[in-house]
Amino acid sequence: MILLDLNKQQLQAYLQETLNVKRFVADQVFAWLNKGASFDQMTNVSLSTRQQLKQIAIDKPVKIVQTLTSKIDGTQKFLYQLHDGNVIEGVLMQYKYGNTLCVSTQVGCRMGCKFCASTIGGLVRNLTAGEILGQVVEVNALGKGERFVTNVVLMGSGEPLDNYDNVTKFLTLLSSPDGLNVSQRNVSLSTCGLVPQITQLADDGYSVNLTISLHSAKQENRQEIMPIANRYNLSQVMQASRYYFQQTGRRVIFEYTLIDGVNDTYSDALTLASLLRNMSAHVNLIRLNPVKETRLKSCGEANAKKFLSYLEKLKISATLRRQMGVDINGACGQLRRNYLETND
Ligand code: SAH
Repeated sequence: MILLDLNKQQLQAYLQETLNVKRFVADQVFAWLNKGASFDQMTNVSLSTRQQLKQIAIDKPVKIVQTLTSKIDGTQKFLYQLHDGNVIEGVLMQYKYGNTLCVSTQVGCRMGCKFCASTIGGLVRNLTAGEILGQVVEVNALGKGERFVTNVVLMGSGEPLDNYDNVTKFLTLLSSPDGLNVSQRNVSLSTCGLVPQITQLADDGYSVNLTISLHSAKQENRQEIMPIANRYNLSQVMQASRYYFQQTGRRVIFEYTLIDGVNDTYSDALTLASLLRNMSAHVNLIRLNPVKETRLKSCGEANAKKFLSYLEKLKISATLRRQMGVDINGACGQLRRNYLETND
């Protein structure tokens, strides 16, 4: 049993049933788990209880096995190992307003986007809620203060809405006042556009920031780089995004990775602007972080600035994001791929 999968009440019930542990002891265990402590470190819990716990449960579902720090901007990249030996990765970006941790939601991914390293090798398995939370807990424990990680983005490996039940359970645990108490305002969920689940997320009462990976406003072009576009077309994605905005009041962000010769012309900007016209939206432009297994090239910096200026002239709110951690395999899934290649 991964104890971080459980909320406080569930942990109380589980420990009561299995080991006849009293409620106040379960609460102590819950507090320790959220601090990233191992059973051995839970010093106010009796030694015999700790030994029994070790027999039946997992204290730390993810462990940091490698840390790379960017010399350029201080961005840190983590390689984590799961209890079954699988590895996943995460990135910590430090901004003036706080620290943002990018978490993975699956081992691998089955969405098949042409520019993305996470999807090479397909989906291995879903992460449980506790394995997603464990990433935040581990990195939080590196900081001295209680709230080292202030913001969380679900933009690591995996498609969060392809693992809907575990991801929403994680969102509830993360934002719980009993636990890490990270407000949903400080959480962003990025999706390649699973339409039914976008609607469901709003209907289930979640209010995280929604980011749609658009990458092209031309249907045919989008189908070429993102297989999911064959299942849900642009108008369905836009309809679901508007619905999410209406239900939550949260402005939807559109992620647009600029790929040389694929989606970076004036005509692409024009189509994008007309798609987002009359909508409360913001575009995040980022230059492709080239993945060696693909032939796709990053759009040049001058071209990216030009694309931004087209959008600005067309009165579309947009920013060109700095690439962070380019010297440490910053793009999704690259660190894990390197690890798998050298350990095969
Ligand atoms: N599956 C989700 C979240 C993970 S990817 C999604 O598709 O949104 C997070 C973001 O990084 C997405 O916008 C994704 O399209 C983008 N991305 C993936 N590989 C990239 C690369 N090599 N360079 C730049 N952005 C990339």
